[in-house]
Amino acid sequence: MVDLFSPWRRAQQMKSDHIDNRRLFEVVNETAILEPTEVEHLSTCEECLEMIRVLIRQNLSKSAEAS
Ligand SMILES: [Zn+2]
Repeated sequence: MVDLFSPWRRAQQMKSDHIDNRRLFEVVNETAILEPTEVEHLSTCEECLEMIRVLIRQNLSKSAEAS
């Protein structure tokens, strides 16, 4: 599998307060809800937003395959 998260991991090493990508995955899959501090982080962090976009795209392609 292509490592989609490798640029993300590099970014995380530079800036330790990013939201864990597993958390973002759960939120995109509606199995978790963002904490207010995470919402605040997302409002200022383009990297986390881009990560969410990637996860949503993966989700959409998955549901397209299923139907
Ligand atoms: Zn971030």
